[in-house]
Amino acid sequence: MSSYTVINPATEEAVTDVELFDVEGTDDAIARASDAQRAWARRAPAERAQTLRDFAAAVDADVEALAQLETLNSGHPIGQARWEAGHVRDVLTYYSAAPERLFGKQIPVAGGLDVTFHEPLGVVGVITPWNFPMTIAAWGFAPALAAGNAVVLKPAEWTPLTSMRLAEIGLEAGLPDGLFQVLPGHGSVVGDRFVTNQTVRKVVFTGSTAVGKKIMAKSADQVKRVTLELGGKSANIVFADSDLEKAAASAPAGVFDNAGQDCCARSRILVERSVYDRFMELLEPAVAKVAVGDPRDEATEMGPLVSAKHHAQVSSYVPDESQVAFRGSAPTGAGYWFAPTVLTPGRDDRTATEEIFGPVVTVLPFDGEADAVSLANATEYGLSGSIWTRDVGRALRVSRAVEAGNLSVNSHSSVRYTTPFGGFKQSGLGRELGPDAPLSFTDTKNVFIAVEELS
Ligand code: NAD
Repeated sequence: MSSYTVINPATEEAVTDVELFDVEGTDDAIARASDAQRAWARRAPAERAQTLRDFAAAVDADVEALAQLETLNSGHPIGQARWEAGHVRDVLTYYSAAPERLFGKQIPVAGGLDVTFHEPLGVVGVITPWNFPMTIAAWGFAPALAAGNAVVLKPAEWTPLTSMRLAEIGLEAGLPDGLFQVLPGHGSVVGDRFVTNQTVRKVVFTGSTAVGKKIMAKSADQVKRVTLELGGKSANIVFADSDLEKAAASAPAGVFDNAGQDCCARSRILVERSVYDRFMELLEPAVAKVAVGDPRDEATEMGPLVSAKHHAQVSSYVPDESQVAFRGSAPTGAGYWFAPTVLTPGRDDRTATEEIFGPVVTVLPFDGEADAVSLANATEYGLSGSIWTRDVGRALRVSRAVEAGNLSVNSHSSVRYTTPFGGFKQSGLGRELGPDAPLSFTDTKNVFIAVEELS
């Protein structure tokens, strides 16, 4: 086994070394998961539900420690990290009801009884990115376990610590040994093995569109099920009839939360031309106010970027001042700091079309509803977005016309665990969260039982 040194992105100091799985270790873990799954699926639904509630309660007891660990590993501001750990608890609690509610159907047929069952798939592989390590892990493992599966999870190399801790908490709370395992490792080794090992029946992948395409192509070989949650370049559309003060005041949070390392980041602000100048006047002080700094500080709203490599990648989008309208502030010295940055590029410039995944937003003017929709849709992504208007008809027209899976009107909220989440076009395939998520970890079986006529 090789190891990987986890770095604190706020200080550039080493946190710990993590042992990485190789192919052989991955295969062993998958075999163990498969054994555990058979026993888990045989347990009574009420017993599985109680075990998941116990897991949720154990996460609740550990919220502060998990949050501190995420802040250390990922540089997330402590307030945000607490919310994330609480979200994991809530997702587990929500899906703990599923074992007793995975209802099949009884379908009227001639000559007997016809019933459907939702059978667990077996072992599910979950591959997570580094931007929201805990929450995205829970979106995969909680509904998969609830539907009677085992889960092997590969966290991103840079941010494995909270997922590793969650697997320990699950075991301590009573999950059968081997049912939920976290395997730190490289994507090309452990992640790839999830795709090629035949015992893994489904892969849930969250990450870049480029890697998602590779996983989808390779999965075809075994007709392996995939859910893909990929990149985004979401539009924040501001109409002249909106509450402009509110739209401008909340725009920074819509893109700079988690230092812009958010697949749902509203990284393109589109403003109706007649109010463009006024909007920019309001946006500048709102950006200046974003508190960037030590993620352990309760007042911090934005921490550092996750790594030196990612810092270099984001920086490559702002090589000079030619597109910069204004910036917020950021600390200097150790840490991967990047100030919130507002660009005013041309419509076809790289900054206006590619996912930057950092605290960089572009602002473009538009002329009327049709132009706003066409500009919003001028990307192969389709994950998220916002529409600001006081006209309810326009809100509905534009929401229906924008090609994206998760839209909000007069708000920047994207994710509620009770509602479905996922992308249109190259932002993904399938949906996570919401009431139907456990079903996506099952195959439907139809059984017909011949019954003789009453004589
Ligand atoms: P990435 O694609 O580089 O890596 C994601 C995960 O895949 C990591 O665990 C990585 O080790 C693994 N991986 C890499 N190569 C692999 C391979 N060949 N086979 C199997 N696994 C492999 O993405 P990232 O840089 O970690 O995350 C950022 C991206 O994730 C952004 O594009 C962002 O938009 C996207 N994202 C999407 C969502 C969503 O819900 N749609 C949520 C968060 C992040």
